[in-house]
Amino acid sequence: MKIVFFTTAHNSLSQRAFVELVDRGHTVIVVIASSEDVMLEAVEREHPDLIVAPMLKKVIPASIWQQHTCIIVHPGIKGDRGPSSLDWAILNACEEWGVTLLQAGAEMDAGDIWASRTFSMRGGSKSHLYRHEVTEAAIQGLLETIAKFESKTFVPEPLDYSRKDVKGCLQACMKQADRAIDWAEPSASILRKIRCADSFPGILDTVLGMQCYLYDAHEEDVLRGTPGQIIAKRDGAICRATGDGAIWITHLKQKGTDGQPSFKLPATHVLGDRLDHVQEAPLAVDQWCIGRTYREIWYEERHAVGYLHFDFYNGAMSTDQCQRLREAFLLIRRRPTKVIVLMGGTDFWSNGIHLNMIEATDDPAHESWRNIQAMNDLVRELITTESHLVISALQGTAGAGGVILALAADCVYARKGIVLHPHYKGMGNLYGSEYWTYLLPKRVGREKARELTEALLPISSRTAQQIGLLDDAFEEDAASFREHIRELAEELASSHRYEPMLEEKRQARKNDEERKPLQVYRNEELQRMWLNFFGADRSYHLARKNFVYKGLMPDHDRGDERGRTGGHVEFTAGHDAGWHYGRQPARDGYCGRASMTAEILDGRAMSAEMKAELRGEMRRFVEKQGQAPGLGIVRVGGDAASGVYSKTILRVAADVGITAHLEQLPVNTSADELRALLVQLNNDQAVHGILVQMPLPAHLSQKMVAATIASSKDIDGISSRSVGNLFLGLPSFLPSTAAAVMEILERTHTPLEGRRVVVISRSNVVGKPLGMMLLQKNATVTICHSYTTNLAALTRQADVLVAAAGRPRLVTDEMVKPGAVVIDVGINALPDGGIVGDVDFASVREVAGAITPVPGGVGPLTNVVLLKQCVQAAWQLAGEKKEWTSTACQISAYAGNDADHWHRMVATHTIVSASWEIAKPRFK
Ligand code: NAP
Repeated sequence: MKIVFFTTAHNSLSQRAFVELVDRGHTVIVVIASSEDVMLEAVEREHPDLIVAPMLKKVIPASIWQQHTCIIVHPGIKGDRGPSSLDWAILNACEEWGVTLLQAGAEMDAGDIWASRTFSMRGGSKSHLYRHEVTEAAIQGLLETIAKFESKTFVPEPLDYSRKDVKGCLQACMKQADRAIDWAEPSASILRKIRCADSFPGILDTVLGMQCYLYDAHEEDVLRGTPGQIIAKRDGAICRATGDGAIWITHLKQKGTDGQPSFKLPATHVLGDRLDHVQEAPLAVDQWCIGRTYREIWYEERHAVGYLHFDFYNGAMSTDQCQRLREAFLLIRRRPTKVIVLMGGTDFWSNGIHLNMIEATDDPAHESWRNIQAMNDLVRELITTESHLVISALQGTAGAGGVILALAADCVYARKGIVLHPHYKGMGNLYGSEYWTYLLPKRVGREKARELTEALLPISSRTAQQIGLLDDAFEEDAASFREHIRELAEELASSHRYEPMLEEKRQARKNDEERKPLQVYRNEELQRMWLNFFGADRSYHLARKNFVYKGLMPDHDRGDERGRTGGHVEFTAGHDAGWHYGRQPARDGYCGRASMTAEILDGRAMSAEMKAELRGEMRRFVEKQGQAPGLGIVRVGGDAASGVYSKTILRVAADVGITAHLEQLPVNTSADELRALLVQLNNDQAVHGILVQMPLPAHLSQKMVAATIASSKDIDGISSRSVGNLFLGLPSFLPSTAAAVMEILERTHTPLEGRRVVVISRSNVVGKPLGMMLLQKNATVTICHSYTTNLAALTRQADVLVAAAGRPRLVTDEMVKPGAVVIDVGINALPDGGIVGDVDFASVREVAGAITPVPGGVGPLTNVVLLKQCVQAAWQLAGEKKEWTSTACQISAYAGNDADHWHRMVATHTIVSASWEIAKPRFK
């Protein structure tokens, strides 16, 4: 079946549901449902058999649920309704709770019931319950629902409060006042309040005079103090006295001041020197202690097996945590045991470097570097351990470097039902280190390693086992998994196979080292990481900021955000603060599709995103100037394609608020008449951009048009002044198709610097301008045309391949380098009326890393780029010293607003001097 997910965030439940359904052969398309439009557009495009909402905070439009079956996964028992179900169940200490799968309808959470499950509640935070009990119940319920749906005979049960098994009711949205803490209360009650708000929204309280949200609370059975007093600190956490004891709080988020967002950090980091008077309460990793307390890293030993636990919040590992874990590992490696089991934490094994801690430093690039080095140092110790057999026991989710950390062990086992993200690129094209180029292909083979790191999709423990990433996956609940691991480890330690296995491992390591030293893998990876952290491409820094701030950038970072990406949110917030992977969650729309190799670069979604940005820009313009920008479109004659294009531009212009009008001239219009109209538009103050539709009738010259349109209104970049400026790397209007290609590359964070880009076209509207823009991005560009010999040999070298030849399916799979980004500009009408691009989509999608479809790729962006340039023209004509914000226009490497530099350019390049009068107002 084709199933579309509408979800507010691709969180742990959504990811688990995704992998379970994909494993069962369904095609699943995840849509981050940020608006009604996104949902409507997705349904129109995908025609799904079924819609599932694993975690949706928005209402599904009636036109969708009236025509499609939409299943809502509600984290409450039958009859329960409202947005704070699990919060109330925890706060009210319910002993049993459940999950209900119901059909979307007019009333929220009151639709017909397809399935439900109940479970016993135990202590633990909302996020912990959500990742375990709720997710397991939801998956069972979802699989049952899908079987019922496929049977086509099942009739869901209407919600009927008179039924005995319907015990829930409508519950209000929980407010901060409902959770407010009085520190004289018993620990149990305070714990419930913090846990029912964990990990979102957090409970608001005052700590040492600072307003903060509190997260991740743990019992403390020994320490005591005056209620409310901070009595100890340990591993970044604070211990606070309650009415009958004390509790630990590991994380705080300072309440934003002046509306500025903030993010979660270890409590001691947030409170800083306010804690100077508070005593450290250190606990050695192997220290036995009475009762319950909080510790991040601890060790236990039994029957020649050492168990190293490391339970880092959300699986993130800071430089300090990596160093402490490495020291703990070295300590226990000296113990006379035979097997070491790395246990991770219950919810998370590891998610690699600690993005929040990196963001909190003054120099995030430097801290990123330190953090990856510390991870590498830890992984190296695991790989080179010759005294023990090492087992990784994944109780919880792992991502990026966290997955690779696990692979450094000799055996890798996981709990059934965990989800793995064995890739880095989703975080702003991060290359990744942790010796992944050694460890990953060793386990799964080179081809599969490439596939995993490029696909950016979550995988189930079942799939991971099938491809050899895991040795085995067993037991659904964490306690049974731990017990099973103990049995395995003890059996291994006492097995007669132990010594031969250890010897085999030493020999294999020696051979591997001779073939290629570990240090070489590390150096190669770090070279790429250095570029990610310190290079000109800021994608990683931007992606990290978006992730950390959950898309709500603080003011001081907004300029960077706009300048670099057009300001879209790369990562989404949700129940999980763990990394959410994939380029596609970056934007409204697709988040992952399971049944194909290449990522589909969805031009429609990007166009919607650009339109939203443009509407904001329009609002600012109208507020300031009192009128909307105007666009004049000129069409001579009746060319069908240009007629369609004109209509589209008029529609999109109306949609974003630009006043556009079409001047339709008869086919026999003379050159003088056309020139007169263009001069009139040049002088019309209400018109800020002029577009002349091509092709013109044969008797009219394109050159005359390019020479007549005022360069200040030349929004499609056809005049020689625009072309000259583009050539010189100065700010200029750009041909919109070429600029649309650049928009796609920018918005998908496709690296260009130093990469080989092949463009099939040398036309004035695509190939030549695109070649210039790519050169400005420091790509190595090859331009091909109809005289190029051995085209395939050149295209096969391309990291990025752009096809704009106007030849149906010219580019086939054997012409594409595996993993390449393929942009198809071609629009070719087939005799049967169908439209195809220049790329044979069906075969190339199996080879490429990412590909634009036709239709739905470059096309939808072209007209929005044009309109964006119209708004830019309007700002400039209004004399505004406005940043040149078009992503593609950032080619102006040495332009900016530097008037002196401009003067120097004018002195040396006569072609530029013509632009001076027009550009001057920008520097006033
Ligand atoms: P064009 O002016 O005809 O240019 C085509 C270019 O491709 C020329 O440089 C040509 O080489 C080269 N070429 C043709 N056949 C080739 C082959 N077999 N091998 C290598 N190179 C070859 O066309 P255009 O106006 O740039 O448009 C190109 C395509 O893009 C068309 O399909 C058009 O419909 C589409 N398009 C799409 C959009 C959009 O918004 N998506 C916008 C505009 C155009 P020579 O120079 O040697 O002839």
